[in-house]
Parts: sequence; structure tokens; C-alpha cells
Amino acid sequence: MARIVMKFGGTSVADIDRIRNVARHVKREVEAGHEVAVVVSAMAGKTNELVGWTRAASPMHDAREYDAVVASGEQVTAGLLAITLQSMGIHARSWQGWQIPIRTDNAHGAARITEIDGSFLIKRFGEGQVAVIAGFQGLGPDNRIATLGRGGSDTSAVAIAAAVKADRCDIYTDVDGVYTTDPRVEPKARRLAKISFEEMLEMASLGAKVLQVRSVELAMVHKVRTFVRSSFEDPDAPGMGDLINPPGTLICDEEEIVEQQVVTGIAYAKDEAQVSLRRVADRPGVSAAIFGPLAESHINVDMIVQNISEDGSKTDMTFTVPTGDLDKAVAVLEKVKPEVGFDAIQSEAGLVKVSVIGIGMRSHAGVAATAFRALADKGINIRAITTSEIKISILIDGPYAELAVRTLHSVYGLDKH
Ligand code: ADP
Ligand code: ASP
Ligand code: MG
Repeated sequence: MARIVMKFGGTSVADIDRIRNVARHVKREVEAGHEVAVVVSAMAGKTNELVGWTRAASPMHDAREYDAVVASGEQVTAGLLAITLQSMGIHARSWQGWQIPIRTDNAHGAARITEIDGSFLIKRFGEGQVAVIAGFQGLGPDNRIATLGRGGSDTSAVAIAAAVKADRCDIYTDVDGVYTTDPRVEPKARRLAKISFEEMLEMASLGAKVLQVRSVELAMVHKVRTFVRSSFEDPDAPGMGDLINPPGTLICDEEEIVEQQVVTGIAYAKDEAQVSLRRVADRPGVSAAIFGPLAESHINVDMIVQNISEDGSKTDMTFTVPTGDLDKAVAVLEKVKPEVGFDAIQSEAGLVKVSVIGIGMRSHAGVAATAFRALADKGINIRAITTSEIKISILIDGPYAELAVRTLHSVYGLDKH
């Protein structure tokens, strides 16, 4: 007997038929004698609709009320799946985040889980109950519902798996694993049997939305054996119930990966915006005067490029922010202009950041040069570059996103044959 947490994303629970199919996956594990807790997302498109309603009601709304609205999508699915499981003769009931409770911090809209009392769920296992838990939500210190940021049900699942010391956390989604790049952009993408926590963390933070970043962090810290797998396969097909090697991608320690490639994957993030400050005074304290106020306004600055000034007095400063934060960033900068001292602000939205990720880069030279050459050959202009030990990120114009992803995927030999 094993203890398994199963998470099903929005497309997997998009309608009653799909919920029935999900219930069959749950039934398979229950009938194999395992202890099972299930985490569900809202039905596909539901959260977007709810978010849209809060914006329509008022663009500047109370984040606590936003949470009250958007957390409702998961409540519906949890109830529907519990009803379906019961109709199949399985002892199940739904639980909201606050009932367990899944405790979070106070950052409404992007809260972090602070504590889950595993004994509550372990008691349910003892009673032979399948707990169907609404993902994406918890209870804040202000005693109000808090949500975990978009894609947060992944994090709910991994956190619950850690709290109950589950043998496995299965993230069921609409693809059958983690691929070398988004299979919707590059059909030649290959499914990875395994990917290291570090690489998955980079992939997720650089745009591969298959897992929420925080879920990968938690899996890494708590050593949760996490699989990404498909909910669309026949629940009773051979091998689906394999305890050790279920079909899908295992997220694991680097040491578990025998054949390490130099480059493991390509990720991309759309909706980046570039801000350039022209003729900024080149003196100590200027960066602090620019980026301090942006940070205070909770604007996430990413790539930063500063030119060397010709005469030592003035320079250009360029950086990126999410397109959604561009207007706010420009307003903040206009305010600090007299103090910082620059001539003009120029900005451009709709850019894309493409990233090459691989642990093998630590020990191989020339990986970046290969990317630059391949993009140049396709006539793609590079606006900014950042690198770390295991990734290279390149900022380009929006319309070239797909071409750049496919070009890089091919140049590093990732295409399936
Ligand atoms: P869910 O609703 O199940 O949480 P998501 O839409 O959040 O599903 O994540 C699954 C999607 O992530 C896939 O449909 C795929 O288009 C996208 N994706 C992006 N990068 C990758 C990748 N490297 N491997 C697999 N899927 C990826
Ligand atoms: N329903 C939430 C979202 O769409 C959480 C999730 O699906 O993980 O962001
Ligand atoms: Mg998701």
C-alpha cells in the first residue's frame, strides 16, 4: 500500500464527462489499496472568467475580495468530483482549503502556504475516505480565504503530499509529461523521462507553465516524488497503476539522471516589456534610485542592461518588466525623474524572453554562442541577454517567439526524429 496525492488541472475537469474520467483514475488507485487524496483545479476557463468579473466590477479591487471570488472555481470541482466518486461507490468527500486548514501568509492573490496539519488528512485516510481538496486556496492569518497565484493548485498538491509524507504526488494534466519545450509550439518536442528539480525550477520560472514555480521549490525542499502525467489516457490501460514507474515525467534529484544532456529544454515567456532610460547620470546610487521605487511598487524587474558611458557622465539603462506592469513602472519612473536625472523614458511592450536551460551548461563552453549564431541565421534580433550557471535568456521581438523556440530546439539536437 502506498499514499498518493493526485492533482487534476483545469482541462482535466473541464466538464462532467472529464470529471468522470478523472474519477476512474482515482478509483484505479483506491482499488489497488492505496491511500488517496485528490487536489482539483477549477474547470478550464473558469478562473479566467472569475478574474475578469472582478476587474469588470472595479479595476482597483480589494485583493481579499478577489480571493473570495476566484477561489470559488475550485469549490465547484471538488464537490462535483466527490459526487461522481460517491456514485461509483467510493467513500469520498470534498474539503475547502479553510476546512483542513491549509494555512497561508497574508499576500492575498499570491499567498504562500505556511502550514498544513498532515494529521487531519491522515485521519481521513484511516477512515478509508478519499479527501477531494479544492486546490489554489488556503486560509490567511486574517481568517479569510487566500489564493496561491495562477497555477497554484500544483503547489497545493505538492504541499499536501509533503504534509502527509506521500509516496508520490501525481500532477495530471493535458500533456503526458514535461517536454523539451512546449509541445504546442514545437510538435517535435520530446517527452523527458526525468528532469532535475533545478532544471524544472528554471523551466517553470522562465515560462513553462506545466508546473507552478512554487510547487517545484516545495518538491525539491521536501523531496516529494512528483510525476507529471496525462489525465487523458485510458485510466485502465496497462502500466497506468505502476507504483514505481508510472507513465509520465519524474521530477527528481540530478543524481538520478543517468544521461545528462548539455541542454535539457527551451522555455519562453510572452508579454515582456522593455523600458529604456536615456542619458541617465552615471554616478553611484543611480541604480538604487531607479530600482528601489520599482521594487516598493511590487514591480518585478528582470533583465537589466547598463551601457558604459562614453564620457563617464551619462549612460543608458534598459530593463524588462511584465507588460501588465509597464504603465505602473513608467508612472513610478516619471515621479523619480528629478531625483535620478535622465533625459527620456522609452518603452516597448509585447516582447518575448526565450531561454535555454540545462545543467550540462555548467561544464560546457560555447552554449550561448551557438544560440546567438542560430538566431542570427534566422534574422532574429537580440535585444538583451542574461545568463546564469544553467540558463541563457534572450529577449526578442514578439512575432519571432515561435521561430526562436523552434530554432533553438533544433540547434541543440532536441528535436525528435
Ligand atoms: P493544468 O490546467 O493541468 O494545470 P496547464 O495549462 O497549467 O495545465 O499546464 C499544461 C500546459 O503547459 C500544456 O498544455 C503545455 O502547453 C504547457 N507547457 C509549456 N511548456 C511545457 C513543457 N516544457 N512541457 C509540457 N508542457 C508544457
Ligand atoms: N484555477 C487556478 C488557475 O487557473 C489554479 C490552477 O489551475 O492551478 O490559475
Ligand atoms: Mg496549471
